[in-house]
Amino acid sequence: MKKIALIGSTGSIGTQTLEIVRNNPEEYKVVALACGRNLERIEGQMREFHPSFVSVADEEGAAALRSATKDLGIPVSSGMSGLVEAAAYPDADVTVTAIVGMIGVQPTLAAIEAGKTIALANKETLVTAGHLVTRAAERKGIQILPVDSEHSAIFQCLQGNRGNRISRILLTASGGPFRGRSRAELEHVTLADALKHPNWSMGQKITIDSATMVNKGLEVIEASWLFGVEPARVEVLVQPQSIIHSAVEYEDGAVIAQLGTPDMKLPIQYALTWPARKPLPGERLDFTKLSSIELAQPDQKTFRGLEFAYRAAEGGGVLPTSMNAANEFAVAHFLQEKIRFLDIYEWIEYAMDTAPRTREPSLEEILAEEKDVKERLRAKFL
Ligand code: NAD
Ligand code: MG
Repeated sequence: MKKIALIGSTGSIGTQTLEIVRNNPEEYKVVALACGRNLERIEGQMREFHPSFVSVADEEGAAALRSATKDLGIPVSSGMSGLVEAAAYPDADVTVTAIVGMIGVQPTLAAIEAGKTIALANKETLVTAGHLVTRAAERKGIQILPVDSEHSAIFQCLQGNRGNRISRILLTASGGPFRGRSRAELEHVTLADALKHPNWSMGQKITIDSATMVNKGLEVIEASWLFGVEPARVEVLVQPQSIIHSAVEYEDGAVIAQLGTPDMKLPIQYALTWPARKPLPGERLDFTKLSSIELAQPDQKTFRGLEFAYRAAEGGGVLPTSMNAANEFAVAHFLQEKIRFLDIYEWIEYAMDTAPRTREPSLEEILAEEKDVKERLRAKFL
C-alpha cells in the first residue's frame, strides 16, 4: 500500500490523482491533502478518502472547514506551515505536487528533506529552484518522478538506457489555441479565446501558459533539470494532435518516442507505479484512424515563451525566477481581464531586463526576487 500526500488536491492534476486512488483502493491510501480555497471540494475529498491531515490556503477557510467537518475529527491547518506539513506528512511515502505556481518550492523542498519520493507536476518549482531541488534530492537519494506529460514521455523513453548518451530531447508542443496566428492577430484576443485549449483540459494558469507558449518554455527548463541535459539540447517541435508526447534521440541517431491519446492519467499513474505499468482504462490510440501526425517548427518570434526560457536558462541565477514570477503575476492579471494577452510578454521581458545578476541563488534570494518582481511590475505597469 502506497501512502500519498497530495498538495493541490482540488485542481486538475489533483482530482485526476484521486481518480486513480479511487480506482485502486487496495494500492493507494491518501494520508494528507492540501488545497487553496475550494472548501466544498476538499470537504468532499475528506469524506471520501479520510486523510489524516488537511491544509488550506488561509485560516478563515480552515476555520470554516473545521466546523463543516467536525464529525470527521481530521485536523485542518492553513498557510505555508500547513502546506509544508501536508507535503512532508510523516506517514506518506510519496508526495504528489499538484499545486500551481512557485508557492510549491518550500513544500517540495520539505517533502524531499523528509525523504518522500516526489511525483512532480508543479513545474514552476523546478524552474525557479531547480538547483536546490535536484541537489537536495541527490543528497537524500530520493527520486523525482515527472508527472508533466512530455517529461513522463521522455522518462519513459529513457527506461533501459541508463549510461547511454542523449543527443537531443525532442519536446513536443500542441501550439495552443492560437497556433498559426500572427502578432497582429493576437492584439485583441480575449480571455475566453485563450482558455480554449484544443487538446487538454487543465487548470486556468497552465492553459494561458499554453496559449503564450510560456508553458513550453518552462518545460524546457524543467526537462533540463530532470534529465541533466543543457537547455540548448532540448528542442521544441509543434505536434498539434498531442499524440507524440515527446522523444529522445540517442548518439547512434535512434529516436525513441512515446505516443498515446492525450490523457494525464497515464503520466500521473506511471509516476505512482514506476517502474511497473498497471492497467488503466481509457481511449486507445487507433493508428488506422489517424490521418496524419503533423510536426512543425514553433513560431518563436510571435510566441515568445520559448525565447524567454532559453535566455533565462542561459543567464541562470535568479533569471528563471524573474521570468516565472513575472509570468505568474501577469497571468493572474490576464485572468482578471486587467491586461491584454500580449502584455504578458511585455511584463516578462521587463522583469528579466531589470533582474539582479546572481549565481546559485539561495531560497531566500529566490523568494526575495519573486516579491521584488511584483513590485517592479506594479511600479512600471499598474
Ligand atoms: P489547478 O489550478 O487546476 O489546481 C491547482 C491546485 O493548487 C488547486 O488544488 C488549488 O487549490 C491549489 N492551490 C493554489 N494555491 C494554493 C495555495 N496558496 N495553497 C494551497 N494550495 C493552493 O492547476 P493544474 O492544472 O492542476 O496544475 C497544477 C500543476 O501541474 C501546475 O504546476 C501545472 O503547470 C502542472 N501541470 C498540469 C497539467 C494539467 O493537465 N492540468 C499538466 C502538466 C503539468
Ligand atoms: Mg506538459
